[in-house]
Amino acid sequence: MDTKRVEIKDRMHPKEEELLEAARILREGGLVAFPTETVYGLGGNALDESAARKIYGAKGRPSDNPLIVHISCIDELPPLVKEIPTAGRILAETYWPGPLTLVFPKSDLVPESTTGGLDTVAVRMPDDPIASQLIHLSRVPVAAPSANTSGRPSPTTADHVWQDMNGKIEMVVDGGQVGIGVESTIVDVSGPVPVILRPGAVTQEMLDELLGKVLIDPAILGPMEKGVRPKAPGMKYKHYAPKADLALFEVKEETIKQLYTPGSRLYSLISSQMISDGRNWNLKPETFYMAWKVNEAAMEMEKAGAKIGVICTDETMDLYTVSLKRSIGKRASEASVAHNLYGVLREFDDLGSDYIYSESFSQTHLGGAIMNRLSKAAGYRILRV
Ligand code: AMP
Ligand code: MG
Repeated sequence: MDTKRVEIKDRMHPKEEELLEAARILREGGLVAFPTETVYGLGGNALDESAARKIYGAKGRPSDNPLIVHISCIDELPPLVKEIPTAGRILAETYWPGPLTLVFPKSDLVPESTTGGLDTVAVRMPDDPIASQLIHLSRVPVAAPSANTSGRPSPTTADHVWQDMNGKIEMVVDGGQVGIGVESTIVDVSGPVPVILRPGAVTQEMLDELLGKVLIDPAILGPMEKGVRPKAPGMKYKHYAPKADLALFEVKEETIKQLYTPGSRLYSLISSQMISDGRNWNLKPETFYMAWKVNEAAMEMEKAGAKIGVICTDETMDLYTVSLKRSIGKRASEASVAHNLYGVLREFDDLGSDYIYSESFSQTHLGGAIMNRLSKAAGYRILRV
């Protein structure tokens, strides 16, 4: 199949005529990849069973992994769901349009091929001028998983989509690089208590503040135990795994304590390292220590002849002497790290490294989503130093 590529001239103000053909393709059962504020989505008519099957085919994704249904205004929600529980109403009022997906009991209108056989449906209203206008013009709810081949990092540019989908779908709408860079937060509001099924840019802290305590699906926190069924079926699949062996470095509590105890061995070592080259590092001692340990381990591998790369940050970049390093963003801005995360992982896949060592991040706020994606990509291989 020839895949058409349509470039949107002004990303924030797409013209109707630029999106009409894409909307027609969606309405008629074809597939169109398009940008949202989170990652690029692979869209198809959510009410058309054969469109859902085509999505699974193009992605190479198991068909029991349900799709998120995208809408452009709140009036499009009631036909898709059996009821709107109070928590769902409050969350939709507060965070829609935005990077939050809500799981509701589904209505009979939504085919089981879209929900992977579940009696619930995941719905999101994106806050992106292209996505929103395209869905509106198509006049159908749009099922749109991330527009990557299953097992590759989610696409954050039209070029990423092109690498995976050229020849497999009707059209790619090119809206440049997306803003957030990690997939939406998913909250299940179909039960008595809201449960976070996937962390994203609407953070746990934001949800706790709005609703009181929300629960967290254990599948977010670590590898699933055998026989346990995660509530978001997608969580059970081996997610993106880089071609290289990825390991994250994390500083132990005990080490941090020592780093702040004057007179301790680590305190003296790191203070002298930090001032030895006369530079004002302006880093927390634990960040300096982590980068120092990552570099030490990477240099050892490099000397042994391994092709190793390091994922670091703007603040720590200069500390590294290893030959292959890429900054994932600024520590001072978690948003920049989320924004670059999948692009950096794709770059390392293209570079063909055998090993990647990465710095880790705090688990709070957007860091929760960042560490969830990085830990999964690392197969939960976390080296505590
Ligand atoms: P993606 O489309 O790539 O953003 O992935 C969609 C995620 O949403 C997967 O992890 C799915 O398992 C999850 N999901 C979609 N529909 C439901 C649902 N009805 N209940 C729980 N999780 C869902
Ligand atoms: Mg995905």
